Amino acid sequence: MNDGISRRGLIGLGVGAAALSAAGRTQARDGPVGFAVVGLGKLAQGQIVPGFRNCRNARLTALVSGHPDKAGRIASEHHLPSGAIYDYDNFDRIAADPKIEVVYIVLPNFMHAEYTIRALKAGKHVLCEKPMATSLADAEAMISAAKSANRKLMIAYRCHYEPLNLEAMRRVRSGSLGKPRLVITKMVRQSDQSDPSDAWRLDMRQSGGGALADMGIYGVNGARYLLNEEPVEVRATARTDRSDPRFKTVEDLIAWEFRFPSGAIAQGSTSFDAADEMAFEVIGQHKRLVADPGCFYGGNHLYLWQGGSRTEIPIHEIDQFAREMDWMADVVRGRAPLVSPGEEGLQDMRLMHAILESVARHGAAVSTDGRYRRAVDPAVAVS
Ligand code: NAD
Repeated sequence: MNDGISRRGLIGLGVGAAALSAAGRTQARDGPVGFAVVGLGKLAQGQIVPGFRNCRNARLTALVSGHPDKAGRIASEHHLPSGAIYDYDNFDRIAADPKIEVVYIVLPNFMHAEYTIRALKAGKHVLCEKPMATSLADAEAMISAAKSANRKLMIAYRCHYEPLNLEAMRRVRSGSLGKPRLVITKMVRQSDQSDPSDAWRLDMRQSGGGALADMGIYGVNGARYLLNEEPVEVRATARTDRSDPRFKTVEDLIAWEFRFPSGAIAQGSTSFDAADEMAFEVIGQHKRLVADPGCFYGGNHLYLWQGGSRTEIPIHEIDQFAREMDWMADVVRGRAPLVSPGEEGLQDMRLMHAILESVARHGAAVSTDGRYRRAVDPAVAVS
């Protein structure tokens, strides 16, 4: 078994009674919800910080970064005062900043648990990027820290709030394809070890699973939300060239097959050495839905196939990051249900763990716990 996604102790994070003492610091209020963005890397600078301009209820009110120059530049571009900039050493001082209600964790995966738990202990709600952690133990500790602090923990699964994916879920749920038989997900891209943003992704300790944790997770999560059920078994194989310096500690190409209680099968694949693709397909008894691409930030397309004829289903494109941040703001204000809570992230962690276990056992069938039920179906809750 790979040790990146594994059960290891949560050392030194001190979840406990202190979490409770911070719980009352953020008062119930009205108006826009202030967000601190933690980690100003590619995603934060390219999508999240600009995304606030398209938000209705979420406002950027603070930045957390280890690079004062970068943070200062971004703060001035967004009219934030110097007092709104924190670093990793003084991070816990956010507890005393009433302008921060939500902390958005956009750090490398191995840092998610620590900063999520510190933010919760500071009395803040947390929106955390996927994958939620690098180990099951960390994911569980994040969920229990949110419960202890009586704060919300949402995992940033943008596809749960995105019109194309929602349309696909609704069409599958409606029965219009016939009974769903097969889901196929392909989540692959090229990686570049000289890019610092990929270097940590290619390190098992820091990413928790290479391409699977970065891209494959969209297929794991996608098969579950498309079928609205949980797999009971997985078989997986990997093809990894260990002479490629990128793949010293993580697998490259992984293909897996989930078996679902309804009889449906979901075939997923992921790679860090393939032409970029984020596509999925649902084959029903009578019709086939193809999203190609289906999970990029924009430019996605959804097609309905029947026999040899293809119809494109028109989709209204949105800023997916603004949408999920607004959703989190509505959750904080009590106007929306928590659609992608920590438990949803933990279920994907369990399944990725099972995939890696099957790879380590040369494709042997690994049983997965099919009893998890999502509390809120995005297809119903998100308009
Ligand atoms: P990145 O490497 O570009 O950014 C990470 C930031 O963390 C950098 O600013 C870096 O300086 C900072 N950092 C602080 N301490 C660090 C340390 N010890 N080691 C390395 N970096 C450190 O990564 P990214 O692409 O912005 O991804 C950040 C998170 O967002 C990841 O969890 C990733 O999975 C997730 N992500 C999600 C999506 C999505 O569509 N939802 C897309 C891309 C990334």
